[in-house]
Amino acid sequence: MKRATDSSSQRIREIRKIRAPLLRWYDANRRDLPWRRSSDPYAIWISEAMLQQTRVDTVIPYWERFLEAFPDVESLAQAELDEIYTLWTGLGYYSRARNLKHAAETIVTEHAGQLPNTAEGLRELKGIGRYTAGAVASIAFDREEPLIDGNVIRVFTRLLGIREETTAKTVIDGLWVIASALVRGPRPGDLNQALMELGATLCTPRNPDCPACPVRRHCDANRRGDADRLPIKKKRSKPKPMRAVAAWIERGAKILAVRCPEEGLMAGLWELPGGEIGPKDEAKDRLGEILRAAIGLEIHHAESIGRIEHVFTHRHLVLEVFRCRAEKGQRVRLDRLQAHRWVRPSTFLELAHAGPTRKAMMLFGVTREPSARTAGRTRT
Ligand code: SF4
Repeated sequence: MKRATDSSSQRIREIRKIRAPLLRWYDANRRDLPWRRSSDPYAIWISEAMLQQTRVDTVIPYWERFLEAFPDVESLAQAELDEIYTLWTGLGYYSRARNLKHAAETIVTEHAGQLPNTAEGLRELKGIGRYTAGAVASIAFDREEPLIDGNVIRVFTRLLGIREETTAKTVIDGLWVIASALVRGPRPGDLNQALMELGATLCTPRNPDCPACPVRRHCDANRRGDADRLPIKKKRSKPKPMRAVAAWIERGAKILAVRCPEEGLMAGLWELPGGEIGPKDEAKDRLGEILRAAIGLEIHHAESIGRIEHVFTHRHLVLEVFRCRAEKGQRVRLDRLQAHRWVRPSTFLELAHAGPTRKAMMLFGVTREPSARTAGRTRT
């Protein structure tokens, strides 16, 4: 036990030596990002929400448009979810947008419109986890609060020569301890940003630029020459296969769009009507039953248009897409879905939607800008 404590104190002493050179390097090399020019906690919070799972250069125009439309907590709290989704379209992970609105409402009703200024207070808000709380508290409120994201994990494991799987809870807990020890002192917000900046620009997943690194003298992986092999990650389990059908249902010049329930993989997003089918189901046979149950329409003439594939984090979707016509004079009756609209195909993708819907619409020649999401690559 004593040895473990000694080694952890030793690590903390070692890591604290990077503080000064890292901050000096950050002062001279930091990227000029628009949210770094702001001291408004609200603007910083929005940037942190957008940066999760999304590249910096992708986020910049989204952040600028979002701040223009919703310049403060009050305007976000009062906005319609659809307006927020529209500005979010292309960023993916729409739960972030829903949580932002929910949290903004709480800030207005319970905190007089001011963001809580401690990590603890921030974590009470929906969608704010340990990372975001640490980021906002340190950057916006100058609190000595740590943060850990993918970049910081990479930097720490290399600096300290951690050669265990970084998915292990004990390893992550240990890294939070290290981050807490490192952030203590002047300029905690800059220190956290410097760590992430180092991971995004020099200590990159492949081919880290060690000769240019300000903390190479303190780096175990640099000494041993195995930075490329760290951090050690557990192999991801294969996403589970999932089959579904979707229908392009025409009425005159318009097609039917439906909004998904608030729970589930595509909560609150618009899509072509359809649903999941079993691994051995005949897609066309099931289509009629699914549409009757979900939207109350009897379909005739279902023509197979093709199939698309989409990989979510844990699911591998194969979606079979049909062009259909509904019997005349029928009305849409929704079962679990939230809402429906008849829209022109060219405007369908202006509604908040997910990747599979975008791909399905491409089968009909309807396109829009590709998704901005780049899962697993953050803050680069
Ligand atoms: Fe990363 Fe190389 Fe710097 Fe070590 S020396 S922290 S591996 S960039």
